Amino acid sequence: MEIRRTKIVDAVKMTTYDVKVNVKGWVRTKRGNKNVSFIALNDGSTINNIQIVADASKFSEELMKDVTTGACLSVVGTLVKSMGAGQAVEIQADSIEIYGKADPNEYPLQKKGHSFEYLREIAHLRPRTNTFGAVFRIRHNMAMAIHTFFHQKGFFYFHTPIITASDCEGAGQMFQVTTKNLYDLKKDENGSIVYDDDFFGKMTSLTVSGQLEGELGATALGNIYTFGPTFRAENSNTPRHLAEFWMIEPEMAFYDIKDNMDIAEEFIKYCVKWALDNCADDLQFLNNMIDKTLIDRLKSVIDCEFVRLPYTEGIKILEDAIAKGHKFEFPVYWGCDLASEHERFLVEQHFKRPVILTDYPKEIKAFYMKQNDDGKTVRAMDVLFPTIGEIIGGSEREESYDKLMARIKELNIPMKDMWWYLDTRKFGSCPHSGFGLGFERLLLFVTGMQNIRDVIPFPRTPKTAEF
Ligand code: ATP
Ligand code: MN
Repeated sequence: MEIRRTKIVDAVKMTTYDVKVNVKGWVRTKRGNKNVSFIALNDGSTINNIQIVADASKFSEELMKDVTTGACLSVVGTLVKSMGAGQAVEIQADSIEIYGKADPNEYPLQKKGHSFEYLREIAHLRPRTNTFGAVFRIRHNMAMAIHTFFHQKGFFYFHTPIITASDCEGAGQMFQVTTKNLYDLKKDENGSIVYDDDFFGKMTSLTVSGQLEGELGATALGNIYTFGPTFRAENSNTPRHLAEFWMIEPEMAFYDIKDNMDIAEEFIKYCVKWALDNCADDLQFLNNMIDKTLIDRLKSVIDCEFVRLPYTEGIKILEDAIAKGHKFEFPVYWGCDLASEHERFLVEQHFKRPVILTDYPKEIKAFYMKQNDDGKTVRAMDVLFPTIGEIIGGSEREESYDKLMARIKELNIPMKDMWWYLDTRKFGSCPHSGFGLGFERLLLFVTGMQNIRDVIPFPRTPKTAEF
């Protein structure tokens, strides 16, 4: 009789013994002696392996020789209570079918303890390691948390385009999209490239943010969020930047900056709590292996109230620290863009909890942020987190057509392709707010991993586009 496959996540929790089960998965390790082999099998459904006990009397030497680390097996046997330490149940194998061998001389994941740098070079296989299995299961769970949070709040998932013709934001750090023959570019008399014969008939790029289109959604549907890939050709080789990352961008009609801060805080806490509730095994593993303070840090974020502080006061705190002898790599003065060392000082050393910094100088923030009456600052809000620095960037948006236009002129922003954005301020303009959360920054925090390349399956960074 055919026995249906049981996932290992379910098999290790079974409490009815002496039943026949079938499990399938990849061999993590095999040990034993000439009478019996113990095979640790994992199918990716959980961090836990199931132990297969294979009596030498039942299996040919030839078959057992091919049961090596990395090989893929289907095992039928009896689930029994385990006598050994380390697992509650094990499977006494009746039959073992080898789906795919893995030559021990070639399979790269032999011994444990490969460095993360090395594992990035074999990113096609690293999901089979304990650490990356845990990270990618948590990644899935965080995506589910995000959709659930917004859906329950009545937000609509609004899909914004990935190919865009607006170059007003992040010019210079955009990846161009073209079907033109790069060896034979059509140019005008000034030597500028002519795009009229290109696929879209104009210069197009991969999006750096879905926000502007998100505002179109919010000013029609009320509350929306985007959750999609975002591209930035910033040549910054840091542990916190990717060229291709995922961003969540909620945009809310009739929200002011306070409402914006409230929902940002509630949202992050919801995601972190979701991880604690739904990813306990994986978090425990990461806590043991990567960062002994991880789970405590996650719990502390849920339990505390985030500090809300104007930028100007943040600068004062940093200047005080310098006066008392604290050394920063980058200078601090009113008007400076904060480096992550400054953000982390405020969060980790001064307040010892997350900080929402507000009312930044307008010069270091985007043109669409709502201008304060002081003429110097805008209603921006960045959420700063321990170990990460900026995790969220957001603001109340400028809803006045005249003020927005004045700022656009001041900054010389090319708006010729942006008439549709300005229409939101012309027709039924309304107060509204939104923010962007970098999905991988959230994952850095939740997993305790140190490098953003290690929380996305196939990272894209300068000079790296393998797999
Ligand atoms: P940073 O100063 O850290 O480069 P930013 O000010 O450029 O961030 P925003 O443009 O406000 O960031 O983007 C919103 C969010 O997207 C950030 O708060 C961050 O979480 C995330 N983010 C921005 N750039 C990257 C990147 N290159 N890789 C991964 N996440 C990013
Ligand atoms: Mn940036």
